[in-house]
Amino acid sequence: MLKVFHLRTDEEGLYNITSYVRQALNESGISEGIAVVFCPHTTAAITINENSDPDVQTDLLFGLRKSFPDRSEYQHCEGNSYAHMKSTCVGASETVIVHDGSLMLGTWQGIYFAEFDGPRDRNFFVKIIKG
Ligand code: ZN
Repeated sequence: MLKVFHLRTDEEGLYNITSYVRQALNESGISEGIAVVFCPHTTAAITINENSDPDVQTDLLFGLRKSFPDRSEYQHCEGNSYAHMKSTCVGASETVIVHDGSLMLGTWQGIYFAEFDGPRDRNFFVKIIKG
């Protein structure tokens, strides 16, 4: 089962999409398998990280900004190469094991849509595969 979700983002941010993935899983009726979450954009990403202390998300974005600053040497005409680099390093997808009808996430884990070049209208896909 494939489910498409829409998201309106700010300039930069981590959006907790765990509830959307759970919704897709519940609608699928599948109790054993995997859930694939995919981001079809080149300046955004999907990641799993802490869902408790919001300072972790702030620090992740700060660390990525420091690691991938805008540089005058970049040639990409759109001027957002730093966002492309964050996207490719964080990654376009995550896979989560489904067992007993639940996502096998750790207690402190949440699934996040990472925006690096907003504000934009974004999509992400959730595919639940029985197995
Ligand atoms: Zn670009």
